[in-house]
This record gives sequence, structure tokens and C-alpha cells, in this order.
Amino acid sequence: MALSRLPLPPGCCASSGRERPACGLLSPLRYQLNFPDCGPACTSRALLALTVPLETLQVVKGRMMQDMRKGLCRQTHTQACMRMLPTFICSMPDGTGYRLCFSAEKGSFLVVELCQNYVRTLLVTLLGDGNRNPEVIYKIFDMPEDIVRGTGEALFDFIAQCVKQFLAGVDISQDRLPLGFVFPFSCRQTKLDKAELISWSKGFCCSDVEGKDVVELLQVAINKQEVYNVEVVALLNDTVGTMMSCSTRDKACEVALILGSGTNCCFMAEAREVEMVEETSGRMCVNTEWGLFGDDGALSDILTPYDVRLDQETFNPGERRFEKLVGGVYLGEIVRHVLMALAVEKALFIGSNVTILRTKDVISTQQVLDIIDHEEGMDAARRTLETLGLGPSERDCCRVQQLCRAVVSRAAALCGTGLAAILTHMCQAREMEQMAVNVGVDGVLYQGHTRVGEILRSVTGLLAPECTATLLPSPDGTGLGAAIVTAVALRLASQRCQVDQVLAPLRLSRADLERVQALMRQEMELGLGQETHANASVRMLPTYVCGTPDGSEKGEFLALDLGGTNFRVLAVHVGKDGIRMASDIYIIPTIIMQGTGEALFDHIIECIMDFQQKQDLVGQTLPLGFTFSFPCQQLGLDKAVLLNWTKGFNATGCVGKDVVQMLREAAQRKEHSGLKVVAVVNDTVGTMMSCGYDDPKCEIGLIVGTGTNACYMEEMQNVGTVEGEQGRMCINMEWGAFGDNGCLDDIITNFDRLVDEKTINAGKQRFEKLISGMYLGEIVRHILLALVSKQLLFRGKPCPQLETKDIFKTKFLSTIECDGLGLQQVQTILQDLELQASFEDSLLVREVCKTVSLRAAQLCAAGLAAVVEKMRENRGLDKLSVTVGVDGTLYKLHPCFSQNVQQVLQDLAPNCNVTFLLSEDGSGKGAALVAAVASRGVEL
Ligand code: ADP
Ligand code: MG
Repeated sequence: MALSRLPLPPGCCASSGRERPACGLLSPLRYQLNFPDCGPACTSRALLALTVPLETLQVVKGRMMQDMRKGLCRQTHTQACMRMLPTFICSMPDGTGYRLCFSAEKGSFLVVELCQNYVRTLLVTLLGDGNRNPEVIYKIFDMPEDIVRGTGEALFDFIAQCVKQFLAGVDISQDRLPLGFVFPFSCRQTKLDKAELISWSKGFCCSDVEGKDVVELLQVAINKQEVYNVEVVALLNDTVGTMMSCSTRDKACEVALILGSGTNCCFMAEAREVEMVEETSGRMCVNTEWGLFGDDGALSDILTPYDVRLDQETFNPGERRFEKLVGGVYLGEIVRHVLMALAVEKALFIGSNVTILRTKDVISTQQVLDIIDHEEGMDAARRTLETLGLGPSERDCCRVQQLCRAVVSRAAALCGTGLAAILTHMCQAREMEQMAVNVGVDGVLYQGHTRVGEILRSVTGLLAPECTATLLPSPDGTGLGAAIVTAVALRLASQRCQVDQVLAPLRLSRADLERVQALMRQEMELGLGQETHANASVRMLPTYVCGTPDGSEKGEFLALDLGGTNFRVLAVHVGKDGIRMASDIYIIPTIIMQGTGEALFDHIIECIMDFQQKQDLVGQTLPLGFTFSFPCQQLGLDKAVLLNWTKGFNATGCVGKDVVQMLREAAQRKEHSGLKVVAVVNDTVGTMMSCGYDDPKCEIGLIVGTGTNACYMEEMQNVGTVEGEQGRMCINMEWGAFGDNGCLDDIITNFDRLVDEKTINAGKQRFEKLISGMYLGEIVRHILLALVSKQLLFRGKPCPQLETKDIFKTKFLSTIECDGLGLQQVQTILQDLELQASFEDSLLVREVCKTVSLRAAQLCAAGLAAVVEKMRENRGLDKLSVTVGVDGTLYKLHPCFSQNVQQVLQDLAPNCNVTFLLSEDGSGKGAALVAAVASRGVEL
């Protein structure tokens, strides 16, 4: 058979075709070629084929680095061979050790390690001394061979039986035993205790496990054994366990290598490179799954015919190419294929029956390792070959030893190449010129022979000269590491539990929402009733707007908009071709908002005069619509008595007075004569009217901005506070005050109480204070403070900045909750508040924001559900189709608020088909539209 060298890959500096001893520099690789008696040419060719020159290794290293980068990148990660799986084991942004590696962990932990042909159970007791002197008891259970190819159920049942037997033999009096599961296969892990098996390897192929959560499978099997105190809390890869156990508090281990039956490597990547996870600061351990490297052909130029044949006999041909060159399970098989080929060529075992070599697995990796030993190796070779009935000669034994060395050396050299790729990658990602790291190593192949370590070290040194790697053999790596991770998982679980306790009162059940809906409905009825009206928390104020626009409105109007964030004056043209507007924004200084009523209205007139001047409207008397977004008892379209101020306004001498009258009086004081106020409109009504101009089905107005409120078209016969039974009238609900009579007290939390206490209208607008923009940031701020004080956030460090009222803006919620933008945004916002947020901190802050904004949306939906259901019943319909005109920055800009409102409303009022229409400048347009009809002398 032809065993010529495969051509070198392009870009490789060695001249092609020249046969020469591999890498002259690389003494550990050369020794196998210096053998004085190389025998027939085919034996040397075999040896040469198994020897990879340094130049080629360099190329392999480059390809591996490329594949790693692909695997880390969000766009290309599905095309990479190496999976680069995030493990959720992180280190501090300042680089001081693992966040998970807490020195205070204490207690007993069970570890189960699934290995090639056995299961190991350990009981590890951590004493809280920084894991210096853990007590470890363990037991090994041999696994029947057929289990690895049987059903998944049988495998997990077996593991669970091992656990049960082990526990029967140890003295342990802990009620609850947390278990860490070391599962050395590639899993898609989403949490420490949730991991779906992606695919089996290393000879395992149990049915019905791939794609399933192996933590759950193990827990179910354990429960079946009635070992009820054992709880699987963490799953980890063997590499991660090794890395953890080789780390001490003073000396972090940042890479771990497994060179056992299979091979794999994990390392601490810069969090920002791990694009599959939103962590951006610090480092996260990435499980490379490098056994898969080469599945795209990247190793094809070093594969020998023996490797190809071995691969074809496996259950996963074409897969895990790197592992099949390096992993222990395969080395015996590679040797068998080499011997078989040479025997066929009559280069070995001349005269013997060699058919035995056709049988799989007749040469074990252990035998190969024994054969390469300097002193006893020849004896081992003879014994092995004789047992196989191959009748070896002295020379056969010699050659077999050389071949075994070539196979093992190649494995070690490739492993060293992989390690060099990892180290160079880390060094580049950290932007360092030189780097020193500790590398934890475990696995029979590494520990079974010193030569393996020597080759590995020297190849790594040659290929990554900028890095100094200290190899640390892991003492009982995986087991101890797993116990540490388990301990930490437990701590995290208990923290989770405490966080849930803090947030529980803000999480409303469906029953809670139904109750809010029913209460709103009840308050609505009370507000509408003539006798009950005075004591209702939802005032249900008549607006004297009795219809929505029909599109025939025309004319020029002035409009005022007071009660939002800005005070505006508008000139509105309503024509056949639609509506055109010009407007100006005027500031109302706090001193005027909270000064005297006269000053406030004088200021408003001055603004109007300024506007008229700028717009060339001086001398014209245009009908004026006044959007006045405060609760008013309206006595006519142009007569509105202020009931109370909200949203930060508090001008004296206004409550109980007609706002139109106050405006007219101010005009007189300012000698402004061209003012014709025809309508006072609430912003909800304006919003409904402006959307109604485009959509005749719009019969509800909703505001969720600084405050929140709603209006809708009610049957006149239900409006007990206004004479007349015909038609409908728009009712300004003033629902922000819902709950002011105490009816919402059991859903109002302590955080809400703290927010309320510090407002200028404490005890008032309770519903609004759960929903609107003026308050959500404050609620979040109080929750964050509580979490800090319980040591659940920012490591419990006091946050003086966070004590400042209104420092946490509601618009932050929008940014923080925007999933696409990443946690970087959260960290930036928090940094501006002088808060150093870790990955977990950022996630927790996001969770708090989501909880608060979801509750706001749910409550808003419960209120709307009461409205639409009442409208449906009023009209005696099975199904109501209606549109809600909406305004308000919170509703419009928050990434999930509107969607949450719509979803919950659909759920609470399934018989109503509700469409939401965003209002564009409802206050201005709406006021003009109300004025348009009013000035025509036709009441709407
Ligand atoms: P108003 O209700 O006063 O007419 P807006 O509808 O513009 O005014 O609402 C202003 C409120 O919206 C502010 O109280 C602020 O808290 C909130 N807000 C501003 N920007 C955002 C944002 N990006 N996401 C969520 N809320 C915001
Ligand atoms: Mg507004």
C-alpha cells in the first residue's frame, strides 16, 4: 500500500515532496525516527506518516485559532466545528479569581462522574477554608459494557443505583445532599443546572438522550431509586471541573486540558468575545469541545490511511476528527490498524496468522502506554503480541514499540498544538505581548506517561513562544472541582430564592388581575351613579363631547396643551386634505407650576401672545381648544372646574375654579382681547378624537406618559351625573386615582409606599403611581436599594448615589429591557450612577426593570379590560370591535410595554377585539377637532 506523505497544506514553509525527519528542532518528535533498525521501508513510511512536521503543526494551530474565533462569534458560530460553549463560570472583571470560587463554601456535596467505563461517586466535604483541605471519600463502580450503547434510561438508572449504593456505605446526616454531575460530553448549557446533550462521543451512544436535559434525566432516575434527599444542582464538563480544582484563591488556573479517553479543553475567554452570552466584562470559561476540530476537513492533510479506516469503523464516521487522533479510546485502535496494514504487507509477524488484528479493540490504550515505556516496554510488547497469537520476533516487538510511540507522540504533539492555539488566542484577546498561565491537566493519557507531558510542553513552547504555560496535574480534579461548583450553585440558588421573595409582591397572578378588573368595573359604576359619584375613586367625569369626528370638520384653530411634560401653543388647520399644525413649546418653570394661579394663567397668556406674534396671527380671533390634562368637573364644553392638581402641578387658588374663566381673566389682565375659548379637553379625549379622525372605531383614549388616564364613549343613560338619556358622551375616567379609597391596598407593595410617601400628593393617584413614567424609575430604585441591603446586588456595597430621588429615570427601563442591545447598556447606565455592576448584577437589574414594567402593563390592561367589557355589555354585543387611541412616551418608547398591555388585555377580555392606534400629537389635534365642531355651533 502507498504510504507516501500527503502534500503539505498551502502556506506551509516546508518544500513539498521532500521526505525528511520531522522538525529537526523538535527533539521529542524525532526520537522515533532515529531508531537504528528501522526495518523494511514500509515500516519507516508508516512511522513517517504518523509524524507531523512542526511546520504542519503550525498550520494546524492557525486553523484551530480560526475555528475558535468562528465559534465565538454570533454570526458564524453555527458554522464552526469547535462549539465554544459558554459554561456560565465567570471571573471578576478585575481578574481576581473565579466568582464561583468562593472561599466560604461549606458542607458536604455529592459528585457523580460519568467516565469511559466506570462511574465514580464522591462525597466531598468543604470546610469553608477556601477549599484547602477538602475531605473526599469516593467509590468507583465498573460499568457493564453494553450500557454505553443501550437505552438512556438504563444508563441513568445505573448511575442512580451507584449513588444509592454509595450513600448506603457512607455516614452522612445531611437532610439535603446537593449533587454535582460531571458529564464529559458536549452539552448546550443554559444554566448551571440545565444542559441538553448535543451529541454523544467517546463510544457512548445511548438512545433517547440527545437533545434532552441530562440534569433532569439524572434527577428522575435518582428519584426512581427513592433517594429523595439528593438534588442535582449543577452539571459540568470534566474540563471545567479540572480547571476549578486546580485553582486556588491565590493562583487562578485559566486553562484546563483533558487528555484521557477523549480530549477537550476549556479556557477563560474575555467575556466580550463570547458573543453567545451577553456578558461583557470579566471572563467566562468556554468549553471548546475541540474534539470536533477538523470535522470540516481542516485535518485532512495529516490524516493517515489508518486514521481513515479507524474512523470508518466508528459509529460516528467523519465526526470528532481531532479527538480520534488524540483521545485515548482511539490510540489502541490506530495501532491495530497500523499493525494490520504492515502485517498484510508482510513487514510484521511473518508466518503468523494475523486475522485477530481484524477484530476491533483487541489492543487497548493501556497496552499501548505500557509498550512505550522505556524499561518494561519491550516485555509489554511481547506479552501483548503473544496473547494475540501473533508470534512476535524480537524485531517485531521493537517495531511495534516504535509504532506505538509514533502514535502516542503524534497525539501529544497535536494536543500541544491545540494548547498553543488556545494560549495564543488568549494572549491576543488580552492584548498582551507575553502571558503566563496555569494549565490544569487531567486524563489517563497525560498521567499515564511522562513522555506525553514532555512532548506536549515542548510543542506548546515552540508554537506559542510568547506564552509560558505551567502544567498543573490535577490531583483529583474533576471531583473536587465539581464539588466546588456544586457548592456555589447552591449559594446562587439560595440567592435566587431571596430575590424571588423580594420580587414576589410585584408579580401579579391572573387572579389578581381579574380582581383589579372587577374592582375597576365596580368603581366605574360608582363614579357614574348620581348618588355614589361623590365617593368614587374613579371620578368618571363627563366631557360634553358626544361624538367622534366624521371627517367633515374644517377651519383654523388655536390649541393649548397644558398638563404634559411641555406646555405648547398650536395653530391648527383642519381641511379637506387633512390636518396641518404649527406649534411652539414653552417652559413652565417649577416656580410657576407651584406658585399662584394668577401667575400661572398670566404666563399662559404671555405664551399665547408670543406665539401669535411669531405666527402672524395677531388680531385674528380663532376658536381655541384648551387641552387641560387635570381632573375637572366639566359643566359644559367650555366650563371646567379643576378638582385637584396632579403630576407635579400645585398652583394655589385654582382648585374649585373654572379654568376657562381663569384663562379669560388673565387675558383681561393682559389686555388680550382676541381669545375665544370654545372647548376644554382632557388629553385622553384629545387623543381619542385625533385617532377618531382617522379611525371611526376609535372610542377609547389612553395615556401612559408622565401620568396615566383613559376615556371612552359611555351611554348617556348610564351617566347619572348629566341630564339626558340619548346617545353617548365621552367620559374622562381619571383612572389614575383608582385605589385612592384603599381598594388596591393588597397589591400595593412597600416599594410603592416608599415612592408614594415622597410625592407631593401622597396617598393620591395610587393606580397612576403603579403605572406611569413619573414613578416606574422610582419603584425600581427602591427595589434595587432593598436588594443591596440584602447583599443580593452590587456585592452588598452601599450605593449612596442610589439614595437620590429620581436618579433612576423611567427611560432607563426602556434601554435596560431592550434585549438586543446587550448588557453593555445596563453597565453603562449603572456606571453613570457610580455603580460597578457585574454580569449577574446587570441581569438582576434587568429582571427588576422587567418586573416593574410588566406589572404596570398588566394593571393598565386590567383597567382597559374593565372598560371594553363594559362597552360590550352596554351595547349588548357578543363581540366588540373597538380601537384605543394611545399617547404617552412610556407606551410609545418602552420596548415591551405596549405588547404586554395588548397580550394581557386579549387574555382578560377575550370577547373584545381591540386595536391600538398611536396618536400623533393628540392633544393639539384633538383640541382643535373638538373646537372645530363646537365653533360650528353643532354640538358633537
Ligand atoms: P406627558 O405624559 O407629560 O405628556 P410624555 O408622554 O412624553 O409626556 O411622557 C413623559 C414621561 O415618559 C416621562 O415621565 C418619562 O418618565 C417617560 N419617558 C421618557 N422617555 C422614556 C423612554 N424612552 N421610555 C419610557 N419612558 C420614557
Ligand atoms: Mg402628553
